[in-house]
Amino acid sequence: MAILEEPFVGVLELQNYVDGEWVDSEGERRDVVNPATMKTIARVPISTQDEFDAAVEAAQAVYPEWRRTPPLARVRCLFRLKELMEEHFEELSRVQTMEHGKTIDESRGETRRGIEMVEVATGIPTLMMGYNLEDIASGIDEYLIRQPLGVFGIIGPFNFPFMVPLWFAPFAVATGNCVVVKPSSEDPISQVKIVELAEEAGIPEGVWNVVNGGRDVVSAMLDHRDIKGVCFVGSTPVGRDVVYERCGATGKRVICQCGAKNYAVVMPDADIERTVASCMTSFFGNTGQRCLANANLLVVGEGLDAASLDAFYKDVVDAFVEASSRITIGYGLDEAVQMGPLRDRAKVERVLSYIQKGIDEGATLRLDGRQFELVNDLPRDCFLGPTVFEDVTPEMAIAREEIFGPVACMMVAGSLDEAIDMIHGSPFGNAASIFTDSGRWAREFQYRVECGNIGVNIGIAAPMAFFPFSGMKDSFFGDLHGQGQEAVRFFTESKVVIQRWF
Ligand code: NAD
Repeated sequence: MAILEEPFVGVLELQNYVDGEWVDSEGERRDVVNPATMKTIARVPISTQDEFDAAVEAAQAVYPEWRRTPPLARVRCLFRLKELMEEHFEELSRVQTMEHGKTIDESRGETRRGIEMVEVATGIPTLMMGYNLEDIASGIDEYLIRQPLGVFGIIGPFNFPFMVPLWFAPFAVATGNCVVVKPSSEDPISQVKIVELAEEAGIPEGVWNVVNGGRDVVSAMLDHRDIKGVCFVGSTPVGRDVVYERCGATGKRVICQCGAKNYAVVMPDADIERTVASCMTSFFGNTGQRCLANANLLVVGEGLDAASLDAFYKDVVDAFVEASSRITIGYGLDEAVQMGPLRDRAKVERVLSYIQKGIDEGATLRLDGRQFELVNDLPRDCFLGPTVFEDVTPEMAIAREEIFGPVACMMVAGSLDEAIDMIHGSPFGNAASIFTDSGRWAREFQYRVECGNIGVNIGIAAPMAFFPFSGMKDSFFGDLHGQGQEAVRFFTESKVVIQRWF
């Protein structure tokens, strides 16, 4: 198939969007490179702390007026934003493919999910309601109202450059708060495009700001007196040791959605063909760069003798390897491509080091992602094929650590109990799937497994906008989650009023 047209040509000189103005930064500029073509497509400013502080000042200044704006008037802006996003749907999707590398179908899915966040946030007039009870004592009523808090900071990861900040920003803005978004500096274009549309949608100056940058901007956010809360999505070391810790010290609300290493459990009654088909997108979608991606496939021999378990394991692994080897690799703007490049060369090097570790640890390399064919004529720098290891044991680094690339580990457990123990041996608790026809096994799995997202006969996709995006153990730090009702609670303070009627 032909490669779709790129939505822009040349190199975008990105700016910050502060108080309704597009402003240049005094900081250094870094190249944003399309990992499929290796061409520079944008230059992003690495803003200074002062530039971040100026955005907070602007947001804080407009906050009292935005807060007083009736919720219906606030969400009218979001309705307009949603319409503009629909009009620009294809452009927004192609931008994601260019700046991140994912396939156009994956980008379209991401755009759809992002728009759904805006749609659900338009329900704020209902979602934000309080409650009351009259006559709690003679002539006295009591009621609860939810109020916004002020200015929130949002820190995005590289792997979903469009969707992730939208887990938070529409809910924050709809509830009457203002935001400063710091996109990942690796792929910041999508958030700049979103705020261009927010401006066109009539969201008032200073309400939704974008400040590009890196650690300095994050430090300024964590220390700023007027930042009431921080939403972070990224790796566990940064989320836990930098963001969560500092927010605790400075008394800010915080959501930290962090790293993962997810298991898919295959029970002996699972349909192998359907299981493997579902696993392909789950293991290799977004080139394995998903916090909900499965990384370890655990074949379980509950009720089987040793020979039957060996035979079942072999059938599952053979089918998995065969399907993995058929994945087409190339430029995501080619609609025939099923897997794009990794985000950059450093990420490729990281995955390569894990492939070597797996070999050194004694796992068997069944499919070597270092050997691959590209369906388009492109530089190979950021590409890798699917890699499948078998004979993997839980103590190996490839089974324990987040690789964040297209590497699948095949493992075996004698029983469901043993499988759950293995899952619980991981420090992470983001997601786990079970493939089975047994209602009893499925119920036991979802009941016992300490992970925030459970799949039954399905690899896990991001929860819909009206459910929270959960996570446990080293995958999540905080109390409330992004999206839906939990986001509404995160972005509001409960106030209880008692009133005597004379
Ligand atoms: P990252 O932690 O490297 O970066 C995340 C953000 O923090 C970026 O905006 C980055 O600029 C900033 N940052 C990086 N290092 C920093 C430091 N030392 N101090 C302050 N700020 C810093 O993560 P990433 O590589 O962009 O994203 C991938 C990670 O995100 C993976 O671990 C993945 O599992 C995780 N993730 C989790 C979820 C979830 O919902 N649990 C969703 C998506 C991604």
